[in-house]
Amino acid sequence: MAVIGSGPAGFYTAYKVMSKIENSVVDMYEHLPVPFGLVRFGVAPDHPEVKNCQDKFEEVAESPRFNFVGNISIGDDVGALPLRSLLPHYDAILFAYGASRDRTLGIPGEDTLKGIYSARAFVGWYNGLPEYSDLAPDLTLGEEAVVVGQGNVALDVTRILLQDTSVLKSTDITENAIETLQKSKVRRVRVVGRRGPMQAAFTIKEIRELMNLPSVEFEPVNGSLIPEDLKGLPRPSRRIMEVIKKGSKATEPTKKWSLDFCLSPKAFDASPTIHSQLGSVSFEKTTLNPDPFDPNARAIGTSQMVDISSSLAFRSIGYKSEPLAEFSELNIPFNDKSGTIPNDHLGRVVNEDGLVTPLKGMYCAGWVKRGPTGVIASTMADAFQTADSVAEDWHSHAAFLNSVDNEALGWDGVKQEAEKKGLRRVSWQDWKRIDAEERRRGSAQGKEREKFTKVEDMLAVLD
Ligand SMILES: Cc1cc2nc3c(=O)[nH]c(=O)nc-3n(C[C@H](O)[C@H](O)[C@H](O)COP(=O)(O)OP(=O)(O)OC[C@H]3O[C@@H](n4cnc5c(N)ncnc54)[C@H](O)[C@@H]3O)c2cc1C
Repeated sequence: MAVIGSGPAGFYTAYKVMSKIENSVVDMYEHLPVPFGLVRFGVAPDHPEVKNCQDKFEEVAESPRFNFVGNISIGDDVGALPLRSLLPHYDAILFAYGASRDRTLGIPGEDTLKGIYSARAFVGWYNGLPEYSDLAPDLTLGEEAVVVGQGNVALDVTRILLQDTSVLKSTDITENAIETLQKSKVRRVRVVGRRGPMQAAFTIKEIRELMNLPSVEFEPVNGSLIPEDLKGLPRPSRRIMEVIKKGSKATEPTKKWSLDFCLSPKAFDASPTIHSQLGSVSFEKTTLNPDPFDPNARAIGTSQMVDISSSLAFRSIGYKSEPLAEFSELNIPFNDKSGTIPNDHLGRVVNEDGLVTPLKGMYCAGWVKRGPTGVIASTMADAFQTADSVAEDWHSHAAFLNSVDNEALGWDGVKQEAEKKGLRRVSWQDWKRIDAEERRRGSAQGKEREKFTKVEDMLAVLD
């Protein structure tokens, strides 16, 4: 089986397939020279315990039936390997390539003004994602920042902006990010959402962490949005409401944050003095229908506008998956609206018209299967479900991809084409050398690792 993507979805599916199908072999293609997807480039650096899943992935990768094919992207760009070159050499393909774009607001100023960052870019930058190594966010223009969106990623961004850098310094955050955060003038962050606290997407752990930051005060929320009697609420909402009502513990605050509800972003406006720079964000006030306490309430515009001055804004309204370049040519479906590969909910790729004929040998797992929501635990559950489908199909002699002479050569069959294109494969042993060098650089600075943020620097370790 060829697995495309080395995040949790790829690793957990590989693990289960290898344990359920005797003698199965997995080749895992990853477009970067380093594995683990959002576990490395998404999960916040001050949440190291979340990254413990990497121990399991290491165990999977140590198997002689597993090959890491790092630094090889599947696609039609120069420097990528076309999907069609994999097909003759595998029985099955697993799409586990996650969500490599982010959703946009589509409002004026979003693409033109300086000072507006996507959360994906900002998170990628502080976590050392090569794509954003040159982002260089300017955090010195003012004291205010606005985060649009109220999910866990929005709260991660807020915490990184407000957290004491001495706490972050010992994590695997990049040194460059620490230097930028040390110079930051941001003192107040507003986390803005279209709906109310009862509809917000963040979870208890993330909100509690912000409330516990020692020198950061939380501005109380409008009480009319919180039910008076919390007893009748389901446990998760009740705990969140209690934490919001209680507020922060800061005694001598130097910074501040707030949850600003019922505001829908309408435009990013230029600064009156520097016209290329963000000066404020305008929002339309909303009301909640049918009522503020209904968890499914909808936000309805009121035509009343509010301007929030800020030279810095972060858009955190979700990630988005895209089809691989050859999908339409190879008749592999993709649902643009949901940003997912149509599947039978058990991971078998199916045609969009009728959910009946599974495309033989094609599977999907993770964010590209069910959309860009959910934590590592839910990604694991859905990867296991996909692996069960692969095993069930295999054991029931269902149709798989037609490999040449019925003998799937895997990477051995593909590598000639990769070599012809001048592509350089990074093996698991190669990654371990990069890993060791990152750890060595980190220990010199009293941190777990200092990540390489450029692909060429990762590869230079191997020369
Ligand atoms: C900012 C952020 C913070 C998060 N924090 C937490 C947290 O604290 N706790 C938690 O449990 N969950 C957290 N999550 C959620 C968790 O990261 C996801 O549930 C999980 O990573 C999804 O796994 P995946 O394998 O589907 O995708 P990904 O992890 O994105 O993996 C996809 C992989 O595919 C590779 N790839 C993409 N395109 C190609 C291609 N064409 N060819 C080859 N390879 C390709 C990518 O480089 C990547 O390595 C967070 C998510 C984000 C965005």
